[in-house]
Amino acid sequence: MKLLVTAGPTREYLDPIRYLSNRSTGRMGYAVAAAASARGHEVVLISGPVALPRPAGVSVVDVVSARDMLAAVSEHLPASDVLVMCAAVADWRPSEVSERKLKKRMMSPVLELVANPDILGEVLPYKGERLFIGFAAETDDVLEEARGKLVRKGLDMIVANDVTRPGAGFEVETNIVTLLTAERTDPLPLMSKADVATRIVIWAEDHLAEAR
Ligand code: C5P
Repeated sequence: MKLLVTAGPTREYLDPIRYLSNRSTGRMGYAVAAAASARGHEVVLISGPVALPRPAGVSVVDVVSARDMLAAVSEHLPASDVLVMCAAVADWRPSEVSERKLKKRMMSPVLELVANPDILGEVLPYKGERLFIGFAAETDDVLEEARGKLVRKGLDMIVANDVTRPGAGFEVETNIVTLLTAERTDPLPLMSKADVATRIVIWAEDHLAEAR
C-alpha cells in the first residue's frame, strides 16, 4: 500500500517571532509512518514542526501552517491508497501576518482570527477508492464526538483518544484509543504508540480491498 500520513501540530504565525499552535508532538503520526514502513509499505509523511528523528525509509515533507499542509496533502493524495490524518491542525490563524515583528505598544490585546481550511473536508471530493483514517483527541464525550467526526468527515475509521486519561494523549509514549467505524467500536487497552500504530496499519491492510 501507499500511505500518506500527516503528523504534528501546525503553526500559524502572526509575525516572524510569534505563532499559535498546540501541544501535539507528532509521536502518534511518526509511529504510524514507522509502523507502515516496517510492514513494507511506501510512506509519505507530511510533518508539521516537531522535534523527532525521521523514521527510516519514509519520505518526509516538512510543512508549517495548515494551508501548507493542505497543499502537501493535495499534491500527494493522488498517488496514495490510504490517508491517515494524525496531525493536530490549528483550527484558526491570525487574520493578518506581519512581515516585521509587531511592537507590543502597537498591538491590540484582541487577536483577530480566521478559520483554517478543514483538510479532510477539502480532499474528501477526491477520495475515490482510498481509505481515509482520522483521529479525534477529545476531553469530553469522547466516543460521541469521534462518531460525529467519523460521519461528518466521511472517514472509514476514526481513532478516538481520551487525552485526559493517564497514559494517553500528548507527550507520552503510550496511548489508550478506540477504533471506530460505522459498524464497530473496538476499544484497545493501554499500549505503546508503536503498537497502536501497527493496529491502525493492519486495519488499513484488511480494509483497503473493501474500499475498492
Ligand atoms: O481537530 P479535530 O478533532 O476536528 O480533528 C479531527 C480530524 O480532522 C483529525 O484527523 C484531523 O487531522 C483532521 N483535521 C483536518 N483539518 C483541520 C482540522 C482537523 O483535516 N483543519
